[in-house]
Amino acid sequence: MRESTAMQNLPPYLFARIEQKIAEAKEKGIDIISLGIGDPDQPTPKHIIDKMAESIYDAANHQYPSSVGLLAFRQAVANWYRCRFNVELDPRKEIVSLLGSKEGIAHISAAYLDHGDINLVPEPGYPVYGIGTSLAGGHPYIMPLLEKNKYLPVLEDIPEEVARKAKIFFMNYPNNPTGAVADLSFYEKVVEFARSYDLLVCSDAPYSEIAYDGLRPCSFLEARGAKEVGIEFHSLSKTYNMTGWRIGWAAGQAKAIEVLGRYKSNIDSGVFQAIQYAGIEALEGPQDSIEVMRAIYQERRDLALTWLTRLGWKITPPKASFYFWVPVPKGYTSSSFAEFILEKAGVIITPGNGYGKHGEGYFRIALTVDKSRIEEAFQRIEKVIGKVEF
Ligand SMILES: *Cc1c(COP(=O)(O)O)cnc(C)c1O
Repeated sequence: MRESTAMQNLPPYLFARIEQKIAEAKEKGIDIISLGIGDPDQPTPKHIIDKMAESIYDAANHQYPSSVGLLAFRQAVANWYRCRFNVELDPRKEIVSLLGSKEGIAHISAAYLDHGDINLVPEPGYPVYGIGTSLAGGHPYIMPLLEKNKYLPVLEDIPEEVARKAKIFFMNYPNNPTGAVADLSFYEKVVEFARSYDLLVCSDAPYSEIAYDGLRPCSFLEARGAKEVGIEFHSLSKTYNMTGWRIGWAAGQAKAIEVLGRYKSNIDSGVFQAIQYAGIEALEGPQDSIEVMRAIYQERRDLALTWLTRLGWKITPPKASFYFWVPVPKGYTSSSFAEFILEKAGVIITPGNGYGKHGEGYFRIALTVDKSRIEEAFQRIEKVIGKVEF
């Protein structure tokens, strides 16, 4: 039996390929340092695990959960948005729980697209925006994110007829992979743009709590009128080191939340309730783990910046997220540099072209290993490349 055309065109997920390379090197007995994957290395805070342990024994949690999420979980999300962003959300109508935000990001296109429809997709970017679009039979229209534009899409560059045909506008700040942030004035322009062309804005904001030098990134939902045109995907994954738990949410425009919830209720049955109780604990319990986490990433960021500068790179450090987005040295492509560094130094970096063709010429470093491993990774890189030429 032949798979669908969309599936035939779908390569294994970027990180599945990287995991494969790590496994192969490990088999050969090579000590690999992975700066490749955006998955926090720190454990989930203990009070959250304790809540999970307690909740798992309650038989009421062993049954099918509600597919849109416990009201108490959605209430906790609403409280968090009020405290953190001063945004009011109705937990009954404006929030839906997700099996990790990736799930909702992938499904929103299926809920909104007819065959041949267009979504506006930033590039370089998280691959799921474009993949979800294609799997739903749609076409991504690529909005390039360029350094000279501070990695923000230029709305004026989107052709009128494309904007008019498009359905979803994806954006992601703090940005993976570039580390860029957006301010409220940009978000307000996006609201206007969405209004003019009747677009659904899908803001993806899992890194809102990971920022440096005292910065507190804002939410799209803070922009005036945002709730009328869009939703924001968020997640416990990065804020509380909970990537494996699979819990996130979408919040914002009531209609889109209802549509996504109705879609999901037909294909999944929601998040395991014990995990939702752990999620409530994460959002409402002590928040000091976030400060600790920020301090850890800040030290790693500063160390990586020192090293990159010493090796000859002239880069602006990321303001947020735990990534560096770095140009490859002269004579390399993204792939050839990543392969060279893996083979000669045993260090995994992510080739920028994995984030789309506008990522070509760059690589991404994730600060998800401890300082001593970052130090060793750069020592090894220095040995094989010396000083960098551009
Ligand atoms: C990590 C990440 C997510 C969050 O994924 P979850 O499914 O919530 O774990 C979403 N978007 C981007 C850009 C990410 O890097």
